[in-house]
Amino acid sequence: MPKTWEEKLSCAVSCARCHRKLAPSDERILSVYDHEPICMPCKREEEKRADYADVSKEAIGQCMAETELLYGDPKGYCYHHFYPFKC
Ligand SMILES: [Zn+2]
Repeated sequence: MPKTWEEKLSCAVSCARCHRKLAPSDERILSVYDHEPICMPCKREEEKRADYADVSKEAIGQCMAETELLYGDPKGYCYHHFYPFKC
């Protein structure tokens, strides 16, 4: 079973939003908008968006449905939209 999403996201070397460099020990989190790994300052900006609550609710439902089928570990992937993680 490929785990590419996990490797790609958890080991991203830069923020997909502001392109700040991310060290393996830097915390990152998944965007609920595009599911790209972003840095914590960018996440805080995202959380201020007016549609954040709606989009994040939708994202969690979608990733549950998708990862259940594809990866068998929906928890980790979905949680990474709301809990920071390291490489
Ligand atoms: Zn950033």
